[in-house]
Amino acid sequence: MMSNASPNRGRRRLVCAAGCAAFALPAAALFSRIAAAQDKLDPSSPTAAALAYTHDATQSNRPSDDQTCLNCLHYTGDAETEWGPCAIFPGTVVARDGWCVGWVPKS
Ligand code: SF4
Repeated sequence: MMSNASPNRGRRRLVCAAGCAAFALPAAALFSRIAAAQDKLDPSSPTAAALAYTHDATQSNRPSDDQTCLNCLHYTGDAETEWGPCAIFPGTVVARDGWCVGWVPKS
């Protein structure tokens, strides 16, 4: 009696897993590039100026030297990329090393 299991099933699963991994890694890099390709927030725009946003936190009047966008609750970028999204400024990206008066510590 013949088995219903294909002798190539294991190989197919391996090929599928390799294909998924081959897709996932470039997709992650692509999403990161898409975020980086968004327009950078213009510090002179009315909202940014009202919140004293600057691309370089060292040039701001922040109350503490350890405050940057990277450790702000509103920042959803990562440490690997120089620019990332901020919930306060939708549709743009802010500098990882930037700052504004909307800074809130990540919990
Ligand atoms: Fe940076 Fe936070 Fe201000 Fe957004 S709210 S610009 S992440 S300091």
